[in-house]
Amino acid sequence: MIRVAVSGCAGRMGKTVVEAVDAADDMEVVCGIDPHGAEAGFAVYPDVRTAIDNADFDVLVDFTQPDVVAGNLAVALPAGIDCVVGTTGLSNATLEGLAATAPDGTCLFYAPNFTTGAVLMMQFAKAAAPYFPEAEVIEFHHAKKKDAPSGTAVRTAQIIAESRGFESEAPGSETEIEGCEGARGALVDGVPVHSVRSMGYVASQEVVFGSMGQSLAIRHDSWDRTSYMPGVLLGIRSVGEESGLIVGLENFMA
Ligand code: NAD
Repeated sequence: MIRVAVSGCAGRMGKTVVEAVDAADDMEVVCGIDPHGAEAGFAVYPDVRTAIDNADFDVLVDFTQPDVVAGNLAVALPAGIDCVVGTTGLSNATLEGLAATAPDGTCLFYAPNFTTGAVLMMQFAKAAAPYFPEAEVIEFHHAKKKDAPSGTAVRTAQIIAESRGFESEAPGSETEIEGCEGARGALVDGVPVHSVRSMGYVASQEVVFGSMGQSLAIRHDSWDRTSYMPGVLLGIRSVGEESGLIVGLENFMA
């Protein structure tokens, strides 16, 4: 049995993770961690340090907030606890620094997106990028999402830039109409990224490629938070065999 602690257990994603772990035969929720959480069949602690002092778990799953996740990992990793992290907003440098604090045999697994469809969307975008002079990313999320652009959009833009190895001719961010700054999106590694925040969405993304006389759109939609759960469970099952920093669900997809 893999013993799991869910950090952010009172949040939208945390609650879904608790349900998914409960439903799996090979793992159990030992405790939750959330300053706004109430006991729900397991103990809920206000912070990671208190959880480590009072409960015994193998894996910490973190779906919290961009401003607290690094602090949570800075406590869990040196204690030798494998971490499965979905909270977005961590830079590669921060992830590398945190992973370096863990003893050998401890894994920090971060996935900017736990859906298999979004991973495939990024792989298709990587394949298409060298053949199209222009590429833009449009992401759509629920109105309560705290960060923009999304971690998936940032990662997709980085992949496109690395894969194509040339600069766009219509780079974006120009402000020729006063008061309309931002109309061409934020530039991430030279790729314009547009963030829509609205009721009605969970998480969607479209990558639009343009060339002479043709365009290609690759789109992925998460309509429900259960779409992330097979990826989260795969991460929980995989980290025990791994060590160091692993970024991206594709590393565990056969
Ligand atoms: P949410 O606001 O519903 O939940 C966050 C929870 O974290 C809250 O209950 C809050 O009380 C709790 N929290 C705050 N500080 C804490 C701390 N120090 N320790 C433990 N818990 C703490 O947010 P959400 O919609 O569940 O999203 C959580 C994160 O997951 C966001 O960063 C979001 O972007 C990310 N996310 C990632 C993926 C992915 O596939 N990687 C998918 C969806 C969401």
